Amino acid sequence: MRVAILSDIHSNLQALDAALGSMGTVDAVWHLGDVVGYGPEPDAVVERLREVGAIGVRGNHDDAACGGATIESFNPDARAAVEWTLARITRETRAYLQALPELLVPDRSAFTLVHGSPRDPIWEYLDSPFAAQESLAAIDTPHCLVGHSHVPLAFRQRRRGGMGAAVMGSGDALRLDDRRVILNPGSVGQPRDGNPAASYMVLDTAAGLATWQRVAYDIGATQAAMLTAGLPPRLARRLSFGQ
Ligand code: ZN
Repeated sequence: MRVAILSDIHSNLQALDAALGSMGTVDAVWHLGDVVGYGPEPDAVVERLREVGAIGVRGNHDDAACGGATIESFNPDARAAVEWTLARITRETRAYLQALPELLVPDRSAFTLVHGSPRDPIWEYLDSPFAAQESLAAIDTPHCLVGHSHVPLAFRQRRRGGMGAAVMGSGDALRLDDRRVILNPGSVGQPRDGNPAASYMVLDTAAGLATWQRVAYDIGATQAAMLTAGLPPRLARRLSFGQ
C-alpha cells in the first residue's frame, strides 16, 4: 500500500494541491494535524481532505480553531490567524476538526499517528533523540508518525541503544526494518527548514520504504489570498523563505 503522509497543511490549498498532484497514485492519505491555522483557505482544505478520503489527527491549531485549546498559548500572529479561522469556518469544517482524534492507529498499521508526541499529542515538539526515545516507550505500535515542528525528520533506534536523528531532504528515503522509527514528513503548507517547497512523505508499506518529497507551489497565490483575507502580513512573508 502506498500512503501519502501529510502534516501541517495550515489552510494552504495551493500547497496541498501541489503535493497531491505530484505524488502519483496512492491508496490512502494520512494527515498529522494542523489542517488549519495561518493560511487563507480552511474550508477548501478540509473539503479536499474529505474528497481524497484522508484520515488523521488533531493539531494544536485545529484544536484552537474549534474552541478547544487555550488560545493564550499562541504567539500574536498565530493567535490572530486562529481567531480569523474561528470566525470564518463553516459548521461542516468545525465539525470535521472537532471529530479529529488526538491519536490514531490506522487499521492493521505499524504506525501510531499524532500531531505532537504520544505523551502530549497536541503540544509537545518532538525535536530531540531523547524525546523520541521516551515517545516510543509510550506507544504499542513499532513506529510513530508526528508533525508539529514543520521540519522533515527521521529518528531511528540504534542497534547499540539510543536514537539516531536526521533531517530528510527531497528524495531521501529510509528503509524500515526491526529498528523502531519516528518520522516527521515536514510541513505541506508552512515549511520551516529554510526550503519553501511543500514537504510530504510517501510510505510504501509493502516495500517498507519511506520517501520524503518536496514540490514547488504557487506561493504568491497563497500570499495574495492571505493579504486579501486580512491575515498578518508576516505570516504571508515567511512562506517565501520556508520559515
Ligand atoms: Zn503546525
